[in-house]
Amino acid sequence: MQELVKRIQQDGNVLGDGVLKVDSIINHQVDPLLMKQMGELFAKVFAKRNITKVVTIESSGIAPAIFCALELGVPMIFARKSKSLTMNEELLTSSVYSFTKQVTSTISISRKFLTESDNVLIIDDFLANGQAAKGLIELCQQAGASVEGIGILIEKSFQDGRQLLEDMGIDVVSLARISSLENGEVTFIEADA
Ligand code: 5GP
Repeated sequence: MQELVKRIQQDGNVLGDGVLKVDSIINHQVDPLLMKQMGELFAKVFAKRNITKVVTIESSGIAPAIFCALELGVPMIFARKSKSLTMNEELLTSSVYSFTKQVTSTISISRKFLTESDNVLIIDDFLANGQAAKGLIELCQQAGASVEGIGILIEKSFQDGRQLLEDMGIDVVSLARISSLENGEVTFIEADA
């Protein structure tokens, strides 16, 4: 997506260890118009997959996921990273190692929100080693739901995430694909949409 690439070029900062900081558009301050455009693009790309739920993980996936769900006319569910006192029903859970925080956390979704008749589109902000996406897939599998695809805003293609997901037979659509963050420079390869 041309607009996202342009914004990363303008506003992104490369931190050491292969991390891209985009906190003025995605991860802290959020650009609503860009989120709306990206959410709608995912809805268009996956329009034929009969999606019944959009699933993401808190917090940065929520903004694009809600616009996508709005466009598709379906609910959006965000997996929680910590258990809330109000989550007193049966839970679907899985363990996720966070690339940026370097801790393992248990993510969860209430079982009542996902069923075997659901066709799920997973949305997230970044794809690095694929651990967040894998955790979300596991939650869907526990519910017996079908994962119809994964929409990613920024894929770091020099890490293993895409391969991991494709090996599971899942379609990955990334709006920006970064082949390198070396020497403080962002190098892009052709995106999926
Ligand atoms: P993965 O689970 O694919 O290894 O990493 C994806 C998760 O880690 C995303 O949900 C995102 O929160 C975070 N992440 C991974 N790489 C980056 C990065 O370069 N920049 C930012 N801001 N977050 C990242």
